[in-house]
Amino acid sequence: MRPDDILVPTPSGVCCKLGGFHIDPTRPVERALITHAHSDHARAGHGAVLATPETLDLMRLRYGDNFTGTTQTAHYGESIDLGGARVTFHPAGHVLGSAQIAVEANGLRIVASGDYKNVVDPTCAPFELIPCDVFITEATFALPVFRHGDPDGEIAKLLRSMALFPERAHLVGAYSLGKAQRVIALIRKAGYDSPIYLHGAMERVTGYYASRGIALGELRLVRAASKSDLAGTVTLCPPSALGDVWTRRFPDPVTAFASGWMRVRARARQQRVALPLVISDHADWTGLAATISATGAGEIWVTHGQEDALVHWCVTRGLKARPLDIVGYGDEDEEAPSPQGGGQSGEAES
Ligand SMILES: [Zn+2]
Ligand SMILES: [Zn+2]
Repeated sequence: MRPDDILVPTPSGVCCKLGGFHIDPTRPVERALITHAHSDHARAGHGAVLATPETLDLMRLRYGDNFTGTTQTAHYGESIDLGGARVTFHPAGHVLGSAQIAVEANGLRIVASGDYKNVVDPTCAPFELIPCDVFITEATFALPVFRHGDPDGEIAKLLRSMALFPERAHLVGAYSLGKAQRVIALIRKAGYDSPIYLHGAMERVTGYYASRGIALGELRLVRAASKSDLAGTVTLCPPSALGDVWTRRFPDPVTAFASGWMRVRARARQQRVALPLVISDHADWTGLAATISATGAGEIWVTHGQEDALVHWCVTRGLKARPLDIVGYGDEDEEAPSPQGGGQSGEAES
């Protein structure tokens, strides 16, 4: 049996004919297996969805109760037989509930890792290495320039700036699902225990994280605060809000942005980010290379980002590799913020 007999890449996601399902399809299908709740992977409108309990909850939260026909829960490590294939979900270390999906048939194992990082994150289960024959990897930061470094060091930069400008507000742009909660948890880990403020667009997902036992400390909503209340505080907001009139409610704000893209100085400057924080929920170049090697897979399928560079790296190491030209991934979690002054997002919400 060849890998293509188990999973076939299509422009709208990989498809398993044996099991009658797609993984992270970008168009509505009969049965979808979803790696995680970011909107580029988890779309509404499928006939049936199989995912971890957290991914199902987050999809329900974002799309409403009717986001799919039926749901089925997959717990980490539990194997489920679908037609002629056996599927098992394993932690991907990307965001709460994120999973790699192992698909096995006739002794061949393919792992579709979705988005992943091999770095400790207090807000989700750690990445689990699954030995496999074919590894499907993302390539968001698959260029040698991307080395994310130490997230605690980045949080220390934020806290130093807050100490330096005690009369100003600090605004941290971060994606609403995963990154924002991780940044809050990292700020708490660094010992900061004053209330942290939230843009209204982050309220529900952050509340969900807290309800799952992730310690985020005291959180307050910006909309309930006056301008003077916000002096000397830190607020998490969607990246698009950084360029919004919404920022006028803050006293002399310092804008920060937490993203793997902040490694590129020109990008931070262009987005007028005063305080770039290199914090990513994706593996960096080193992490991708280390993970690919450690799976022992002889064949690598690359999706989602800098595919050519990673395919080239694999080939130079004697691995079989090919890009999957799936359209529509990479739209949510590491997307660039809108240019200054352009956005209106969330203004009404908070
Ligand atoms: Zn993602
Ligand atoms: Zn993604």
